[in-house]
Amino acid sequence: MRKPCMVANWKMHKTVEESVDFAHQLIGKISESANSDIVIAPPFTSLYPVAEVLRESAIHLSAQNLHWDEKGAYTGEVSAVMLVDVGCKYVIIGHSERRALFNESDGDINRKIKIALKFNLRPIFCIGETLDERESGKTFAVIQKQLKDGLIDLASDDIRQIIIAYEPVWAIGTGRTATPNQAGEVHSFIRNMITEIHGTDVSGKTMILYGGSVNPDNIADLMSQPDIDGALVGGASLDVEKFIKVVKF
Ligand code: PEP
Repeated sequence: MRKPCMVANWKMHKTVEESVDFAHQLIGKISESANSDIVIAPPFTSLYPVAEVLRESAIHLSAQNLHWDEKGAYTGEVSAVMLVDVGCKYVIIGHSERRALFNESDGDINRKIKIALKFNLRPIFCIGETLDERESGKTFAVIQKQLKDGLIDLASDDIRQIIIAYEPVWAIGTGRTATPNQAGEVHSFIRNMITEIHGTDVSGKTMILYGGSVNPDNIADLMSQPDIDGALVGGASLDVEKFIKVVKF
């Protein structure tokens, strides 16, 4: 049985004060027995102060990105060791905004997944097709390539640590959500691919999240799909009340 997991991706939003305030409110309103695992991904500047607030709670901290090398002359970048140092347990890798705006390739993403695993950070590995790709019938081919290339040279033990997030690019921040059936069929395709390569023991435990305009009104229908294990939430995660409703779907 896979316990649902809800991840808040704040992107480039919230000052330290706003982040800390959100974390306090979330802890106050979510009981230890919440039916979902909760992960929040603040911007880099808020990671340490939010980690301090979450220290005794069951809520986990994620970064939104990392560099693929351990250390070095990479002005402006942040390493896996630094993220672990401030209390991160997860890191989002390969978000479509990073692929599109910062030219991240499947190869870059594969290197980032490997460095995250080396330092015991659980990658939240994002994949998804653009609107053009969906409309030209390429959805499954795109998903297959992103999954295969992103996970190159990883063993079954590595795959167990990875959370996959299916995020159709046309649904991110657009208010346009994939229907539960559209999302569900891609999730099943992803799980079948993992089964083919790593067997049912691994695929049965692999968490596959949906992302793309998730909100309190559509989460329950999405979660009714057997292969949807949770959500990566952008816009609706900036408002603590909305995020709590998603968590408690
Ligand atoms: C995201 O940031 O990954 C995302 C899915 O954003 P939104 O929920 O705003 O579409």
